[in-house]
Order: sequence, then structure tokens, then C-alpha cells
Amino acid sequence: MIIAMKPGAGMDEIRRFAETLEKRGVKIHFSEGASQTVLGLVGDTSTIDEEGLLARHLVDKVIRVQEPYKRANRLFHPQDTRLAVPGPGGTVRYIGGGHLGIIAGPCSVENRDQIVDIAKAVKEAGAGFLRGGAFKPRTSPYSFQGLGCEGMDLLLEAKKETGLPIVTELMAIHQLEVFDGVDVIQIGARNMQNFTLLKELGRCRKPVLLKRGPAATVTELLMAAEYIMAGGNSQIILCERGIRTFDSHTRNTLDLSAIPALKKQSHLPVIVDPSHATGLAWMVPAMAKAAVAAGADGLIVEVHNNPEAALCDGEQSITPAAFGSLMDVLRKYAALEGKAV
Ligand code: PEP
Ligand code: MN
Repeated sequence: MIIAMKPGAGMDEIRRFAETLEKRGVKIHFSEGASQTVLGLVGDTSTIDEEGLLARHLVDKVIRVQEPYKRANRLFHPQDTRLAVPGPGGTVRYIGGGHLGIIAGPCSVENRDQIVDIAKAVKEAGAGFLRGGAFKPRTSPYSFQGLGCEGMDLLLEAKKETGLPIVTELMAIHQLEVFDGVDVIQIGARNMQNFTLLKELGRCRKPVLLKRGPAATVTELLMAAEYIMAGGNSQIILCERGIRTFDSHTRNTLDLSAIPALKKQSHLPVIVDPSHATGLAWMVPAMAKAAVAAGADGLIVEVHNNPEAALCDGEQSITPAAFGSLMDVLRKYAALEGKAV
């Protein structure tokens, strides 16, 4: 971090200011110019707040050389993280580090037959994880809100029937009480910056699938991951799920460039949700393939056995048959890149 002091600031005052920074564990190099003194901070500056510095009357400019996230930063962890997710019966599934993690299932759990049938179908097609929402964040309070605890029980039944680990969304801390049997906790786009929730997940020992907010920058997504990691939980999967732009031909705009951007900056696995990104079932296979080609470590795809009758997101849900065809192609893509599915 570089701090330019105001022209004319007295050296005694600057030194006293520098001492307060040194107490925070950084070393300081002074460069005295003709009109301005510049301080170069060396060490971990992630806990030093730029805005706080700019509030000081002595400070003219602050330039951050290093990103404000540390634990999520590839700089301090050059290898890709391969996340190992323990599943039922002592099984382990991997995401990242050469493993494509494929998560598939309905938007919401609707009833026993629906979730168990879809779970069997996606397993048959080669999915590694079952998704399904029990607690649903809906834009309208009048839309189907999910089956809640009953939905969780049905998900656990589908897990037992198929042996697939389950991925489901947590919306509030108190719901953790019923998340014991959940293998990956999903934090939805709307909660990406729910810092109370993120801090709680830092104390949790389960993998977290963290979705990018529709208006969040890549850096903000990494800072959200940093919150969880700073609390002690580094089992995080980042997920690009489309951002809000001026165009309305799709539900959101899939930011494919976020994949290489996130992977350059971070060692964490990055997956893509082509369903919420496009909102259109017919577009999902193309975007799923594009995501894998762009380096994604996996996908989360909405699959429904009767999309027309789905209680949530039917328009963007692909059928088990379409998912099966997609998996056939993805296996070839993965082989080309030397990745396991
Ligand atoms: C979902 O996965 O069903 C969901 C609500 O996604 P998002 O948080 O990305 O909108
Ligand atoms: Mn959905």
C-alpha cells in the first residue's frame, strides 16, 4: 500500500502517523519528495482500511497495491484448491484442482416423488451432487416459498435413495438447526453480502457454495469469500450466476469472463449456474459448455422432470434427457482438458 501525504505536512506529524501504522504490523519506507512525502507499507495490509486513512487530514492519496483479500488470494496459495466434499457412506467428491463438480436438480423440492425421481435421473446421467431448495428466496411474497423443514426431510430421503450429497440454500442462521444432513450449504445471490450470515459460516465446518450477487463485482465476491475464510472455514466454491445488465433478452447476463478473472485472482474453485444466468432452458446447454470451456470447475444446473408444472423456475429447467445429452458432451470436454467428472 502506498500513502501519499498532503503537500506541506510536517515530518514530525508524519512520523507519529507512521508509528500508528507500524503498530499494526507493517514496515514503512519513507520517500521524501520536493513537496510531498510518500509512505510505502510493506507487509499484510489487508486489515488496514483505505477509507479510514483518507479520513486523516495528513493523507492525500492511498493506493492499494495488493488486493484487500488474503486468504482467498492466489498470491498466498498458488495451487488450485481441490475441495473434497464428504458424502454419504464415506464417499468423497471433488470440485476444483482438475475435477469438474456437477450439481443438478430442481429449483425447489416439491414432493417426495419429484425429488427422488429427479435425483435418480441426474445420478444416472452422471451428476455428482443433488441440488434442491427447501427454503426459497422469492422476489414475491406470494410465490411458492419452498417446503421448508419438510423439504429438507425429502432432500435427505433423496440423498439416502441415491447416495448423492446434497446442496441446498441457507437463508437465515436459525435454519442451520436443520442443516445437519446437508453436504454443501448454498448462499444465494441475494445473501452474498449478508455479513452476519457469512461470519456464521466462518464458524461452520461444511463446504459453502457462494453465489455472486447480481450487482456484485468480482472483488466483492472475493471479499465475501474472505469473510467466511477469515472466520476459519476455507471450504468455499465460488459461483457465477449472471449479473444484472441493461439487456433483458436473458434473465441475467452470464459473465463468462468472471471465470478466468476469479481463477487468476483466487485459488478457490469456480463453478457456473447457466440456469439462473439465462432463465431459458434452451440456452442452458450452450452456456454450460461455454463455462466449462472457459475453465469453470463445475456447474450447478436446474433439472426438472416436468418443467411446465414446476413450482419454481420451470422456464429455465432442463429435462433429465437434455441433462443426459449435456453430460455426454461435458465428459468429452473434460477429457480434452484432462479433467475428471
Ligand atoms: C437458486 O439456486 O435456486 C437461486 C435462488 O439462485 P440465485 O441465488 O443465484 O438467484
Ligand atoms: Mn431457481
